[in-house]
Amino acid sequence: MSLPGQWLQPRHGSKEAFDKDFPTLDVKGAEALCPGCKERVKLTRKSPAGKTGGWCAKCNRGVGL
Ligand SMILES: [Zn+2]
Repeated sequence: MSLPGQWLQPRHGSKEAFDKDFPTLDVKGAEALCPGCKERVKLTRKSPAGKTGGWCAKCNRGVGL
């Protein structure tokens, strides 16, 4: 069961900007439900502060918990 996700704030204008803020790969990342399209998004990236995030390609927006 995936947890309901939230949009990452502030909003990233592009996947490239998201990748820059979340540079570390976290392959064991959890899954979250995208608040937009309700599809599962794997949270495979980590920020330097330890925040996890994923990118919903459909909504073109970052998702976190
Ligand atoms: Zn989505």
